[in-house]
Formats: sequence, structure tokens, C-alpha cells
Amino acid sequence: MATGLPSEYISAEQITARVKEMGQAVSDDHADATELTVVCVLNGAFIFTADLVRQITVPCRLEFIRASSYGLLRSSSGMVTLNHDLDLEARRVLLVEDIIDTGLTLSRILDELQRLRPASLKICTLLDKPSARKIPVEADYTGFTIPDLFVVGYGLDSAGLYRELPFIAIPDP
Ligand code: 5GP
Repeated sequence: MATGLPSEYISAEQITARVKEMGQAVSDDHADATELTVVCVLNGAFIFTADLVRQITVPCRLEFIRASSYGLLRSSSGMVTLNHDLDLEARRVLLVEDIIDTGLTLSRILDELQRLRPASLKICTLLDKPSARKIPVEADYTGFTIPDLFVVGYGLDSAGLYRELPFIAIPDP
């Protein structure tokens, strides 16, 4: 009998420790920058971004881009709509994603951001599922590499639910 409760896969403590390390790595790599424009991909990356920017020692300018895939499918439909009003010209940019799965969403966002002519563009993702990749994109900073599983929590949802969980979990089937 299904309980409906997701089971923990990556604990809150593991996430906190890893986010701290990632913030340090981003800060080291941008130590020469006067400021860093952090672009959070909504909706899934909002919690990760909030924690990450508090571990970055370079002054951050926080911006948002909304990426929506159609439908309630558990995998990307390949139809990604982007909404933003970003001005990134000549800026040092860090794009923050929740998860890279097929790579379709990220490659679509990268095309869009490159057109805005940033001075530099680095990609940071909390989770990566390299075995699900259809388009060859890679992050500069990856929190955790996971197998091809559907996960929720820490900003990631299943049909709108579970974003508030403080850990990464596997939903009950
Ligand atoms: P991609 O375009 O790389 O296939 O998928 C990226 C987007 O699909 C993510 O930003 C996320 O919104 C969604 N996604 C992919 N894998 C998962 C997953 O395991 N769990 C959840 N909740 N969303 C996922």
C-alpha cells in the first residue's frame, strides 16, 4: 500500500555541506569580479539559489528566468517557454539550475543568454542526471550526480507538490 510520502534520498545536512562547497568554488573562480549576476531558473532552483547566494562572497545581483515545460510529464517535453527581462551585456553571469536531465531546458536557456552577450557565463546545477542526456550540455559546478530517477524536494516538485521539503526525495510511486 502506497503511503504517498517521499523517501529521503539526499539529506538536508548533505545539501547544506555541498552548497557551502559550491559557494566557495564559485567565489574563488570569481574573486576578481566586482559583482556576479546570478540568474535563478524558476521555479525549481529558487531554494537552491537562495542558499547558494548566501555562501558566495562576491557581491551578487540576483535575477530570474522562468522556464516552463508543457504538461505535467515527469520528463521534459522538449517544448520549453522562457520568460525574462534580463540585461546581461558585459556582466559576469552564473546560471543556477535545479537539475539537468535531457539537457533540453539548459541548452535552450544557454542559447537565449548567450544572445545577451554576457562577459562570462558559468552554469551551476544542484543535481545532474548525465545518463538521461539527449543534448550534450555540462555544468561548471554540480552538487550531486544522480542516476536517472525522478526526484522531488528542495525546490523540485511533482505536479506542484513537495518543493518545500528540506531534503531531496524519491516520491512514492
Ligand atoms: P531537461 O530539459 O534537462 O530534460 O529537464 C530539466 C527540467 O526538467 C528541470 O529544470 C526540472 O524542472 C525538470 N526535471 C527533470 N528531472 C527532474 C526530476 O527528477 N524531478 C523533478 N521534480 N523535475 C525534473
